[in-house]
Amino acid sequence: MSITTNLQEVLSDLPQGVRLVAISKFHPNEAIEEAYQAGQRIFGESRAQELKAKHETLPDDIEWHFIGTLQSNKIKYIIPYVALIHGIDSFRLLIEVDKQASKAGRKVNCLLQLHIAQEETKFGFNFDECREMLAKGDWKLLQHIEICGLMGMASYTDDEKQIEAEFCSLNNFFQEVKKQYFASQTSFREISMGMSHDYHLAIAAGSTMVRVGSKIFGERN
Ligand SMILES: *Cc1c(COP(=O)(O)O)cnc(C)c1O
Repeated sequence: MSITTNLQEVLSDLPQGVRLVAISKFHPNEAIEEAYQAGQRIFGESRAQELKAKHETLPDDIEWHFIGTLQSNKIKYIIPYVALIHGIDSFRLLIEVDKQASKAGRKVNCLLQLHIAQEETKFGFNFDECREMLAKGDWKLLQHIEICGLMGMASYTDDEKQIEAEFCSLNNFFQEVKKQYFASQTSFREISMGMSHDYHLAIAAGSTMVRVGSKIFGERN
């Protein structure tokens, strides 16, 4: 199977209104170029320096998303051009992104990452931490970030009922905070959920953006 065939297969699974972020982390430029030739324009990376290097050498009309854990000292590498940061998991990080975005003279789109899985290893706010941060309201003062929605990762399990329940919990939380804090903000509209093994379930649960890597590019080394 080629990257082009894999990509077309994933795209044919997506209903209107669900966008594909092709996760190209650890794959070489040639792999991204093949997907680009096939029409894909949104790519996601999980390391700031890798993203920087790829951004510098690949076509300018690629929309780059950052999906990993972002270290404060690396934010500056991606701020000038990153289109969306999926993994904001603390208020401190939001402040840091705002500060760097201000220096770069732009506004950076961000998603708040929620911890919806059973495993302890996955990052993100738990629901109460996120409620607390939103209730405090300091985030409203940050002029150089835009909170565009939420992101989450389900447990890595074969239990589809559990995955479904976790995705639904993110959708419910999205509806709750949308109503309470972002009702008049049309840009608050993304629910980033679904990876290679579970994106069908994520779409059924209301995903607007799936992040698919290995199903398109093959296994990572
Ligand atoms: C690596 C990664 C993906 C893609 O995973 P696949 O299983 O290869 O599709 C999606 N989201 C995040 C946050 C990732 O780190």
